[in-house]
Amino acid sequence: MRRVSILGATGSIGQNTIDLIDRAPDAFRVVALTGGRNIARLAEDARRLKAEIAVTAHPELLDDLRAALAGSGVEAAAGAQALCEAGAREADWVMSAIVGAAGLAPGLAALQTGATLALANKESLVCAGALLLDTARRHEARLLPVDSEHSGIFQALRGEDIAAVERIIITASGGAFRDWPIEDLARATLDEASSHPNWAMGQRITIDSASMFNKAMEVIETREFFGVEPDQIEVVVHPESLVHALVGYRDGGLIAHVGPHDMRHAIGFALNWPERRDLPVERLDLARAGALTFRAPEAARYPALRLATAAMQRGGMAGAVFNAAKEQALDAFIAGQIGFTVMAEIVEEVMARLDRDAGLIDAPMTLDNVTRTDHLARQCARNVMAERAG
Ligand code: NDP
Repeated sequence: MRRVSILGATGSIGQNTIDLIDRAPDAFRVVALTGGRNIARLAEDARRLKAEIAVTAHPELLDDLRAALAGSGVEAAAGAQALCEAGAREADWVMSAIVGAAGLAPGLAALQTGATLALANKESLVCAGALLLDTARRHEARLLPVDSEHSGIFQALRGEDIAAVERIIITASGGAFRDWPIEDLARATLDEASSHPNWAMGQRITIDSASMFNKAMEVIETREFFGVEPDQIEVVVHPESLVHALVGYRDGGLIAHVGPHDMRHAIGFALNWPERRDLPVERLDLARAGALTFRAPEAARYPALRLATAAMQRGGMAGAVFNAAKEQALDAFIAGQIGFTVMAEIVEEVMARLDRDAGLIDAPMTLDNVTRTDHLARQCARNVMAERAG
């Protein structure tokens, strides 16, 4: 029986993971579940799955969580430290599905126990790829990708030599605004940005898909995960979202990963790895799917891709700056404080300002330094936005 914990259990990835665990109750024992504000969902799942502990990120919600778990025998805890302790509880497999840089420390805590970390939280790799990989190496822990593109790459690489890889192509749906006139993007509303043409996901990643910041992060994630050079990674817009990724080998061959829009494939692949087991995902009918189309992403529509390339070329803490500035700009867009296209302008300005601080960007990659960079980049983003507003 595999002992599993789910960090970010109340979110879209967390709930899909729980759906798979619910279908095979004899195969898994649940150790820890963590959530944020959705106490009812966290407590209900913790009770049903007989988790050892449920943790909310928010200390002010601990009493509510305790009340919701009363009589269940499930422990309750709250706060950042408790999230790390949940990650560090003895388990074989931990899902990292907290959204944002907040997922980094609990994920590292899980790796330090030698557990397998299924990584949906791409922000961890963007902020601190070297730290995450080094921690996994030192503790003989395994990182498995959960993003559908990276799961696809991982599967297309199985049994192959990474040295024979010429390029990796990840596809992008193009997001909610792929067919809008570029001059209309500045007026895009929160509702319009929050609806994805193909995938049902959390709100933040859906907006990041519209801006292509999600794909930009995935490009960095590809570099970190598979150790390829930035110029070996290509992004192609594929509106049908059925081909998730392709690996191109030096003999010219391309191996693609193809599947329906259902994250339970990538989650289930990681959950059952190294075996393949039955998964409740639709079997793709290619004849019904019809044409698969591909086109190059337009640089003017998706400036986030150029910013990700700049972050990779700069290296060091530039990824942490990129991610924190993006998270802060996204918060401001969600709060109605800035327009859709201003998000990329803020990220570019923050990267330019902090790039001058070599002591920050080139500091050794420790959790403390990543956290400090994250705070400074958020503060810088707030300053840039305040200057623009004033
Ligand atoms: P959701 O917003 O649906 O869920 C996020 C989870 O994190 C929830 O459990 C939420 O709790 C919790 N959370 C939010 N803020 C914090 C915080 N500060 N500290 C601790 N926990 C917090 O996100 P998704 O499931 O969509 O995405 C999760 C991760 O997976 C992201 O990194 C995303 O990029 C990645 N991903 C998602 C995909 C998808 O299909 N959704 C696909 C590929 C990758 P609560 O809701 O209770 O407040």
